[in-house]
Amino acid sequence: MEVVVYPVGSYMNQESLVDQVVDFLGAEYRPTHVLLDGEDYTHADTVLEEFQDIAFYWNRERPINRVPSHVLALMEDLDCHHLVWLSRKAIEEEDILFTWILAHELRHIYQARQSLSLRFLRREAQNIRCQPKYLGLPSGPMNPAELDSDIFAMRACEALFGMSKLAEFTARRRLPRCPFITYPGYLRDLEQSIPIAHRLAQTLVP
Ligand SMILES: [Zn+2]
Repeated sequence: MEVVVYPVGSYMNQESLVDQVVDFLGAEYRPTHVLLDGEDYTHADTVLEEFQDIAFYWNRERPINRVPSHVLALMEDLDCHHLVWLSRKAIEEEDILFTWILAHELRHIYQARQSLSLRFLRREAQNIRCQPKYLGLPSGPMNPAELDSDIFAMRACEALFGMSKLAEFTARRRLPRCPFITYPGYLRDLEQSIPIAHRLAQTLVP
């Protein structure tokens, strides 16, 4: 794995956190490249909308047009198969949220490598959203692959930071992808409701 930092020489703490998280999660989650991109794309209308996101996962099936030159250089590298792009917003976040965002993207790599079927998750996600306490959640972030990635990210943060630090964090902050106070509880209920075999696949045993 190559961790590329832009501009070169910045974000050394987050660079080593990437190494720690990837080493902890293991080979199936290892990207070929991670880009810590310190560029500000707030007003960049010539690049893909994805650069307004907090992070994304790219592989060779995805487009390479309308990307900035320092990102294109990576995407054109034939050794680059699984790239995790992390925005300046993500890099400048506190460690636990940075780890959540990174683990979420790394789970997309696992999903791609395993051709994971998440049909069961779609059904359960809909059932649980019918509970009165979750009716206020938006439908947009409820794609099964995204929910699977968030459940995984939650487990990764719990394993790396401990249950009490994670509880303190989810009580204090909102997650960028779905900034609703009930969302972490929804993820927990969803994880509990999915078949045990799938839940075990989610569980991290260091
Ligand atoms: Zn995602």
